[in-house]
Amino acid sequence: MKPIQGLHHITAVASDPQKNVDFYHLILGQRLIKRTVNFDDPGTYHFYYGDETGTPGTIMTYFPWRHMRRGRKGNGETSAVAYTIRPEAVGFWHDRLKKNGITPGSVQTRFGAEVLPFEDPDGMTLELITSDHPATLQHWADGPIPEAHALKGFHGVTLWLDEVEPTAALLTGPMGYQFVGQEGDRFRYKGASNDIGLYVDLLHRPGQPPAQFGAGSVHHIAFRTVDDVEQVEYQQTIRQAGFGVTPVRDRQYFHSIYFREPGGVLFEVATDAPGFLYDEPVAELGKNLKLPPWLEERRPEIVQALPPFELKSAQN
Ligand code: ZN
Repeated sequence: MKPIQGLHHITAVASDPQKNVDFYHLILGQRLIKRTVNFDDPGTYHFYYGDETGTPGTIMTYFPWRHMRRGRKGNGETSAVAYTIRPEAVGFWHDRLKKNGITPGSVQTRFGAEVLPFEDPDGMTLELITSDHPATLQHWADGPIPEAHALKGFHGVTLWLDEVEPTAALLTGPMGYQFVGQEGDRFRYKGASNDIGLYVDLLHRPGQPPAQFGAGSVHHIAFRTVDDVEQVEYQQTIRQAGFGVTPVRDRQYFHSIYFREPGGVLFEVATDAPGFLYDEPVAELGKNLKLPPWLEERRPEIVQALPPFELKSAQN
């Protein structure tokens, strides 16, 4: 079995659909590439943001649950999501965030790269991390950010954990990650490709309180697999390692299995195929509400229950 290549998508919780779309699509320049509903709760949107075509490793997804109380950061969750930028883009993002009413934290150095931290409208921690060699993506040419300054997909995630070793053993064992360095309480693991979304950082926080799930919390992180055959191999291997893994679920744009890692964070393994062009062409991505066949007949009632929002023009 091949080691896991890196992250596929990250799914988090927001409170207000309009604020969420305005922030990711207009300010961060992450194209809304799919407008659908939570298949398990069709009264809630499911928004997908990414590069122009939704390349795996660029995909941030949100369930905007209206009136959801804000979560509280703590152990057993993904506490930060990091995107890669070019080193020369740090000043651009610092200024752009401030212009849009977001005060970034001060720039830190981590494993030799610069890190610009800030929060999204629900208080979720985002980081922009510099790299001289970002991945090549499908740049969203009609978006608000010039290509040189645009986000270049995920750098990785940080998990807050009571204990590092059990999660590290899962990553470096069945998942095929490699330990690449330690800085203080931070332990870094790298996926097997040299492409995108490579890093999982484990932050050791013994005895700290657990997270409280809510708006601004990451629900799960999904790792990549190329196809259904390889996914079943991962399912078997991870089961053999003693984890309870779900059956394969059809998420329309990918197929998924889920399991909880020893520190409490929900992991998913998702297929690259069929991808986001499965039910609409590139030019139309994100413009219309898409439903899977099994929800299509309920479209009128679903549309009526969803709160309206406006996808404003990204040109500015
Ligand atoms: Zn997912």
